[in-house]
Order: sequence, then structure tokens, then C-alpha cells
Amino acid sequence: MYEIINNIDADRFSEVSANPDVEEVNHCAKTIRKSGNDVIIAVGGGSVIDAAKAASVTVNDIAKYHGTGRSVPETHIPLIAVPTTSGTGSEVTNTSVLTNRRTGEKAPIVSDSFYPKLALIDPMLTISMPKSVTASTGIDVLCHAVESYWSRRHLPVCEPLAVKAARLVLDHLARVYENPYDTDARERMSEASLLAGLAFSLPKTTSSHACSYPLTALYGIPHGEACGLTLDYFIKVNAKDERTRNLSSELGFSSVNEFADAVVRLKKAVGLRTNLRDFTLSEKDIDELVRKSHHPNMLNNPIEITDEILYDLYHKLR
Ligand code: ZN
Repeated sequence: MYEIINNIDADRFSEVSANPDVEEVNHCAKTIRKSGNDVIIAVGGGSVIDAAKAASVTVNDIAKYHGTGRSVPETHIPLIAVPTTSGTGSEVTNTSVLTNRRTGEKAPIVSDSFYPKLALIDPMLTISMPKSVTASTGIDVLCHAVESYWSRRHLPVCEPLAVKAARLVLDHLARVYENPYDTDARERMSEASLLAGLAFSLPKTTSSHACSYPLTALYGIPHGEACGLTLDYFIKVNAKDERTRNLSSELGFSSVNEFADAVVRLKKAVGLRTNLRDFTLSEKDIDELVRKSHHPNMLNNPIEITDEILYDLYHKLR
């Protein structure tokens, strides 16, 4: 892939950080406007693809659309997405998650202008991922699958994709973490990422993603790891929901608790955090986390998530 790109007459833009900032997008959009490019090829993980999506509408200041609910313009430059991680599913969604470091806000912008024209998925491009990125992006796939299934905005057409994606992650993530050159497992994880991306594109994510935004913005926890931190807790909370119980049995677990335990075991097997002890959270820190966890996606959770539940969650993780 890199050989192909090296032989294309193209302008390059590589100033995209792990949590792309609105200013980076503005800079990229300015580069595109100046050079008059007619196509964008985004080669990288979710951050690169998300930044390219937002830059493809080439507005002067993307911050105007970030967390404001304002509609992004429909005119955009076509985007070809080439993922080098198996995690975000960004190559098939209409979402771009951006950070505004000036305001400390991390939030998605959703626009049909953001759908890539083409997604090229080659599992061989994921082999060079560091182990920690394999783990974090892999657990993100599981969250996309599970949250899309139990989302209040669930759709029958998305359910089989979600179940298949979750099963693939449960079966292959630890394997690919142990042996990064296991090409069969890499292929299965690329498949899982794509299926989960398709599964959550319409139902959207729910509680674990809502909590992940402040965990990443305030404590720098990588996106997938931040989502995974709360997944087993919300599986237990959502046990009251019939669809969550169905998902658990469709995945072959005899109970929702067994499902939650399997998620904890998987996180441990791939070296992900299972608590927030590294951050010695004060009561004030927990107050802030609770307040900032009420992202709109929280409303998609099948069980209403109250402050009381969030306080219980963060106290347990502390
Ligand atoms: Zn995610």
C-alpha cells in the first residue's frame, strides 16, 4: 500500500494526533483548499480517517460544527479510507470524533457527507500495529458491536452483524494480541471491525462510548480502552433489558454475568486497564466524570443511566 501511495502524485498531510483536534482538521482543510485536490486517501487508524472526513468538507473552521448540532455542508471531496487498524469502523460510518483542546471537549460530528466513497480493507496493513493499539482498537470493536445491539435505536438488519462481530472479537482478539503475525486472526479482526462499523452506523453507540469521551479527554486513556473500561459494568446494568439477555445467549453465555466476566478476562488477557487506580480519583474528579458522561449517546442505552448509577460505576473503578 505504501509503495502504491509513494507512486501517486499527491500532497501529503500527516499532522494528525491520536485524538485529532479541530485545529488539525482546519489545517488539513486549508492544505486541501490551497492545492485543489480532487480526492483524499486516508491511510491510518480511526484518528486519521476521522480527521480526513471532517477535512473533506473543507470549511474554514470545523469547530463551528463540533458539539453544536449545526449541520455540516453537503459539498465535500470524495474520500477513500484505508484503515491500518482493526477497530473504529470509521471507514464505513458517517461519524468523525474530534477533540477541541481549547474547550476540553471530545465529541462526534455526524454527517452523511462523511461517508467514505470507498473503503479498502487489507488485514496485512494491520500487522504493524503496536500490541497496545491492537488491544485498545480490538475492545472498541466489541463495544461497537454490543452497544449497537442493545441501543434503543437498534435495527433488525444490524443485529446479525453485531453478533458476528462480537463473536469474532471474543474468539480472536487475545490470539492476535499474543501473536501479531497470526494473519488468520488479523483477517478475522479486520472483518469484525468492518461488521461492527456497519452494525453501529445507524443505531449509534450508548453508555460505554458516552463515558469514554471524558475518560479520554480528561485522563488521556485511548478511545477503545476507555470504552472497554465500563463495558462489563454496563452489561450487568443492562441485564434488566431483554435484548441484552438475548445478545448474551446468542453469544453462547449461560448468563449476563458470565458475559460480563468474559469481557473482564479478555481485557486482562490483552493488557487493558480494568480500573482507574492509576489516576487516584478524588470525589471532585468523580463529580466531573459523572457530569461529563451525560453525552447524548447515553440516551440510547436501553436502561436509563442516572447519576446514581454513574457514581456507583466510578467508585467501583476507582
Ligand atoms: Zn469507538
